[in-house]
Amino acid sequence: MGRIVLDKVRKAFGEVEVIPPLDLTIEDGEFTVFVGPSGCGKSTLLRLIAGLEDVSGGVISIDGTDATMVPPAKRGLAMVFQSYALYPHMTVRKNIAFPLRMAKMDPSEIDRRVTNAASVLNLTDYLDRRPGQLSGGQRQRVAIGRAIVREPSAFLFDEPLSNLDAALRVGMRLEISELHKRLATTMIYVTHDQVEAMTMADKIVVLQAGHIEQVGSPLELYRAPRNTFVAGFIGSPKMNLITGAEARKHDVTTIGIRPEHIDISETEGAWHGKVGVSEHLGSDTFFHVQSDVSSEPLTVRATGELSLGYGADVYLTPRAEHLHRFDDKGLRIA
Ligand code: ADP
Ligand code: MG
Repeated sequence: MGRIVLDKVRKAFGEVEVIPPLDLTIEDGEFTVFVGPSGCGKSTLLRLIAGLEDVSGGVISIDGTDATMVPPAKRGLAMVFQSYALYPHMTVRKNIAFPLRMAKMDPSEIDRRVTNAASVLNLTDYLDRRPGQLSGGQRQRVAIGRAIVREPSAFLFDEPLSNLDAALRVGMRLEISELHKRLATTMIYVTHDQVEAMTMADKIVVLQAGHIEQVGSPLELYRAPRNTFVAGFIGSPKMNLITGAEARKHDVTTIGIRPEHIDISETEGAWHGKVGVSEHLGSDTFFHVQSDVSSEPLTVRATGELSLGYGADVYLTPRAEHLHRFDDKGLRIA
């Protein structure tokens, strides 16, 4: 069980309202990601759910019970902290067992839970080591193990991978997704990284300045962003947003077209432009093209085989079926 409902939850620090009244339902077993730029209120929202901050208004219910005033330890949720929060002088076994020992649980039950968690996390052979004798990924797993042994109804993660190097981040992303499939427990995961959000989430909650811009599955947000903020935030490289005369041709204020939905040709096309910087990733090439339709360069994603010199004349054609249209308030026009 782990259904979490926020009903008009708000948070102010003194005079400053960081989270205006907000409604959100997280279904049991769902992997929900809160994503948004730094300072938008992701951690605050997570801490409100955990009970580490008091709400300034509204109701938080967990599995149908009002938990708004319930202390953190009694909410049945487990927060996963970054791996550097491990005790360096304790073995892996003791680190994982720590919250249970604090709760004075029966030693045989502690043993059973630690053995289970270690097996789920492939840490069985490392239980007698200390954190200093582990890799970064293994240390992160120990931090997760400490949450697993509490058998929570939901796991709360606050940017757990932000201090790991890029390769390890990708590996841990997969491990956490895999863990979610195996445990089928509700997970709420906070990140500012839209790639993490896209790759891990069942449901993404895009936040800006404490309010929800959009809630949806990764592909819903990719295909039909509700406004220009979500359009620019979800997808990598970012969607091109074009204002001015070209947008007016479509009777709107802004048109959006993703880099992967523009065809590039040296001979013909809708928009003329000149190639600026090219980024060769091997699998793809990203061309930054200064065009007649936008003061900002347009990003175009082409195959990795394509090579065009700096300053080359090119023609771009947006694929009509992938054109996004937004009104003067930045809202999507269906
Ligand atoms: P995020 O996790 O999305 O980066 P936070 O939830 O940490 O954002 O912060 C949201 C806003 O709330 C920020 O403007 C931050 O300065 C403010 N804030 C967070 N905690 C406190 C606090 N204890 N007192 C005052 N302001 C805070
Ligand atoms: Mg934060």
